[in-house]
Order: sequence, then C-alpha cells, then structure tokens
Amino acid sequence: MRIAVIDYDKCNPDKCGHFLCERVCPVNRMGGEAIIIDEENYRPIIQEASCTGCGICVHKCPFNAITIINLPEELEEGCVHRYGVNAFVLYRLPVVKDGMVVGILGPNGTGKTTAVKILAGQLLPNLCGDNDSWDNVIRAFRGNELQNYFERLKNGEIRPVVKPQYVDLIPKAVKGKVRDLLKRADEIGAFDKVVDELELRNVLDRNIDQLSGGELQRVAIAAALLRNAHFYFFDEPSSYLDIRQRLKVAKIIRHLADSGKAVLTVEHDLAVLDYLSDIIHVVYGKPGAYGIFSQPKGTRNGINEFLRGYLRDENVRFRPYEIRFTKSSERQSQASEILVEYPRLVKDYGGFRLEAEPGTLYMGEVVSIVGPNGIGKTTFVKMLAGVEKPTEGEVDWELKVSYKPQYIKADYEGTVYDLLSKIDASKLLSNFYKTELLNPLGIPDLYDKQVNELSGGELQRVAITAALIRDADLYLLDEPSAYLDVEQRLAVSRAIRHLMEKEGKTALVVEHDVLMIDYISDRIMVFEGEPGKYGKALPPTGMREGMNRFLASVGVTFRRDPDTGRPRANKEGSVKDREQKEMGEYYYV
Ligand code: ADP
Ligand code: ADP
Ligand code: SF4
Ligand code: SF4
Repeated sequence: MRIAVIDYDKCNPDKCGHFLCERVCPVNRMGGEAIIIDEENYRPIIQEASCTGCGICVHKCPFNAITIINLPEELEEGCVHRYGVNAFVLYRLPVVKDGMVVGILGPNGTGKTTAVKILAGQLLPNLCGDNDSWDNVIRAFRGNELQNYFERLKNGEIRPVVKPQYVDLIPKAVKGKVRDLLKRADEIGAFDKVVDELELRNVLDRNIDQLSGGELQRVAIAAALLRNAHFYFFDEPSSYLDIRQRLKVAKIIRHLADSGKAVLTVEHDLAVLDYLSDIIHVVYGKPGAYGIFSQPKGTRNGINEFLRGYLRDENVRFRPYEIRFTKSSERQSQASEILVEYPRLVKDYGGFRLEAEPGTLYMGEVVSIVGPNGIGKTTFVKMLAGVEKPTEGEVDWELKVSYKPQYIKADYEGTVYDLLSKIDASKLLSNFYKTELLNPLGIPDLYDKQVNELSGGELQRVAITAALIRDADLYLLDEPSAYLDVEQRLAVSRAIRHLMEKEGKTALVVEHDVLMIDYISDRIMVFEGEPGKYGKALPPTGMREGMNRFLASVGVTFRRDPDTGRPRANKEGSVKDREQKEMGEYYYV
C-alpha cells in the first residue's frame, strides 16, 4: 500500500520551474498519469494508484513538499481518517477505558488531536473514503474495544471534556474572574476541594487575563475536573508547570481515573507521562504526512521502546538512534578547568528578592537550574547574561555569553536562514552542526520561513539553534523544552550535551523536565525560598546532592529504570518510596 502526501504550504509551482515533479515523473513521461495538475487550485495531485513509488519527484522537488511511503497492507483496514487527496492520513486509534489513564506519546503533527476529536465526537472520521455516518464507524470497529465506545458516543451517552493544549489562548475566549469561571464549571460540587488541590485559592478573584501560564494551566485543569463527564482528555497538562506542580497534577488526574472515569492524555514530559498512565500508545509516522497509533503497551515498556526508537511488536524502527541515560548517580565530570567564579549576587525588585550564593562554573559542563516557578531562576540567568543589573555584586567578566530567554520574541524581519546565517553561516554548513543540531531539530525545513510567522515550537527550535551556533564561552538556556514535543526534547538534549562536550563549552539550563535534566546535566543548581517573595540560589553541586535536596522539598522520590537508566517517579507510599525517604535518598539508591 502506497500513500503520497503533498505539503501544499511548501509547494510552489512557479519557483520549481513550473511543476517540476510532473515533468520528471517516469510514469508521466511514458504517457501515464501518476501526477496530474489541478488547474483550478494550481497544484499537482499524485494519483496513488498509478504512482510506482520510484521517489524521483520526492528528491527533485526543491521544497521537500512530497512524501511517498510504502506501508504494510494490513494497515489499510486501520485507516481511520484522511483529510483529503494527498493529505494527512491517520491509522488506528487509541483505546479508551473506564478507570484507566491512557497516555499518548509521540511527536506533534502525527494525528493525536485528530484522534481525540474523533473520540470526542467532534469529527466524524471518513474512514479514508466517503463515510458519512457513525454507524459505519461502529461497523468498522466491530470486535474492537472501541466498538462499544462509539455506540455509546452515537447514542449521546458519552460526554467528553477536553483540557485544551494551548492554555495561553483561553483569555481570548473566556473573560471574567477565575472564581466565576470555576463556579460555572462545577457540576460535581467539588469547587473547594479542586481549588485547594490545585492551589488556586489566591487567584480566585483575579481576572483570567491576569494569570501567568502556570496559573492558566491549573485553572484549565480545574475546570475540566469540575465537570461531570465520562471521558476526560488532558492535552499537555504539564506545560508551564514546575516539577512539583507537574507531579501533583499527575496525581490528581490519576485519582480521576481511580474514581472510574476514562482518561486520555497527551504528554511530552516522560517522567510525568510515566507517573500518570496505566497504558500508553506510541504514535509514529511522519509529522504532517501520516501517523499510526501503536498497539497499547504497558507504560514502562512503552516508554522504554520509545527511547530505544524501536517498537518490538510492530517491528518498526522510527528513530535511528537510542536515548541512553548514565546509570551511575553522578556523571564523571570531565570538567576540570574553571571557567568562572561568580560572586554573591542579589537582585531586589521591591516585591521580590533573590540572593545567589557565589559559585564556580567549569569548562565543558552542563549545569541544570531547578526550582519552583517564581523563585528567581530567570532573574539569575538574566544577571549572568548582563540583561539585569544586580542590586548587589557585579558581573564583570570578559566571557562571551549566548542567551536564550524564556520568552522569545519573533520580531525579526526576514527568514530563518537570514537570521541564522547572520550569526554564523559557517556552522550551517558544518557537518558536525548538521548532524548534531540542525537536522535533528528540523531546522533546514524552516530556512525559507519568515521568523515572525513561526509557530511556538518552531520559534523555540530556531531560538535554541541561534543560541547554540553563536560563538560563546557560556550558554544560558532558559526553559528550552517549552513548546517542544517529546521527540524534539530528546533531540535538543542530545545537541546540548554533544556540543558542550565536543567544544569544551559550558551551559546553564533552566529546566522542569526531569528526564532532560538527568540526561544533560553534570551538576545542578537548586533554588529555594518562597515563590514570589524571596529566592535563594545555592551554588552548583553534584547531581545526587542537588537532586536529593530539591526532591526532598518536593516530597517525591525517583528510581532508575533498570533497562534504560531513565529516572522514574515512585508512586507515593510505595515500598520504594518509603524506603528511599527513610534513607534520605530521593534520587536513586
Ligand atoms: P498532533 O495533534 O499530533 O500534533 P494533528 O492531529 O493536530 O496532530 O494534525 C496532524 C496533521 O493533520 C497535521 O500535521 C496537519 O497537516 C493535518 N491536519 C490537521 N487538521 C487538518 C485539516 N482540518 N485539514 C487538513 N489537514 C489537517
Ligand atoms: P522563575 O524564573 O523562577 O519562575 P523569575 O525570576 O521569573 O522566577 O521571577 C521571580 C519573581 O520576580 C517573580 O515573583 C516575578 O514576578 C518577579 N519579577 C521578575 N521580573 C521582575 C521585574 N522586572 N520587576 C519586578 N518583579 C519582577
Ligand atoms: Fe514543484 Fe515540488 Fe510543488 Fe511539484 S511539489 S509543483 S516539484 S514545488
Ligand atoms: Fe511519479 Fe515516482 Fe513521484 Fe510516483 S514517486 S509520482 S512514479 S515520480
């Protein structure tokens, strides 16, 4: 079975020399019609039945607009939805089960939202043909666990509730005070309980448009929890939250399933997904072209297969490399030579005061910065970057610093290529940078795009790239994982590690994703205090000491997965959790 997908946003028939694909196609040259021209819309159409899959058009198209893939025949039956001719195709769906959290893991653009719209009854799947009724969908899923679900959905017996992905859009759609919004949502009489669990008491009288990202996220989760539904979908519940809040939210969502509800969640923070889910589906394919839901897998095994890039039951390798974690609690730091010793630094904003103890940074090391939101992490990084002037102490060094802020502005006039080539054109040609950074982050595909038209995730990848190709001694990266999907997070983590190791440079990275922190860090800097009032930055220390101190304040213990070495949060009160807490070893034993 062969599918052909054309990305019409990239296709530009005038710039390729007038339908180059049609002219080079051997079937067309022999008088056949594998590619025809849709004159009305001025674009090519590939007729899959006539195409031989030779791939010539794929390689010749200057804009990488064409994807041709051969897929196993047995997938044909699992074809759920196709958005149109030569458009994205979705194969198979995740299961939905009462009393279970089903996690979905995979890159963006592979059909997760499409699947959820179908399960929520908002999109009637066309079954890759011209289906126009739910009865046919029920028939197509006969014998499948979803048959009964679709029957109930058709009969109006399923009420879905969705916590949307982009919580920053909520203030555009909803006005008024948090209290009123949550009161309106409350169908189960649990207003006080949910407000307290999600720590929203002190924002109840604020207007929706005055909330920070993390507050909006918790309000959106609270609004979903307060509904009386059958099927709950949480799309990326961890965005904007710090580690403690992430695990807390995970626990609350778990309780929802324990009370008998069916829960589906998409989550890119693997430690959170692991903690949340009873089973998971890996979605693989090619973003924008096709997506396939794997069979349901046990959470531990599914995440391990994902990190290996190989799905055993499906016999599919979907990534050329594995992600492996250092199994010892402390990396043997190669760092020896001191890069800089910074002094005690204080920033006093009036309402908030940060005190950073003096510390040392070594060459060739990556140091993570962890702590709750509002504790001064960004403020500290800004002082090192020279963006904020300390109230006490001075940053007077000769170091070259490259800084990626937390909030990135897209106010550059010009293309991605212009922006990056002005920073260092030679790095764009370097094989090392291509292999380690540019290709894994999908940057060449963005070269022709205007910077001010990029999506959040695209802008983040460009900003990280811009920071990392700049020649500097110290790289400051504030929340590089924000807006990135799980695959991109792995790619960014690998790039940061490899570049610092190879070039002997130093990076300071503010991060909330525990797997990323574990993967990239030689050492760690812990921030403590009272969010919004005062913060104290401890000097960089070893991973074990730092994580122990930090996790003790969060009250969560982690163990290592014996196969991949990845950190796994222990369930609260489990034997391991109790043992580790007794020993004071919150991060591995
Ligand atoms: P995910 O949730 O995994 O990011 P989506 O389900 O949102 O993926 O989208 C998968 C792909 O489907 C997108 O890359 C897009 O190309 C395509 N797509 C989504 N919605 C439409 C639509 N209404 N018409 C055509 N194509 C669409
Ligand atoms: P974090 O990065 O740990 O989330 P930040 O450094 O962004 O924390 O902020 C710490 C505190 O400082 C917050 O309460 C924030 O409101 C406050 N703050 C940050 N920048 C300013 C500023 N320019 N003026 C006044 N207060 C600020
Ligand atoms: Fe030209 Fe590529 Fe579009 Fe074909 S797909 S018309 S080669 S830009
Ligand atoms: Fe023609 Fe080959 Fe492209 Fe198919 S893959 S449309 S046969 S050039």
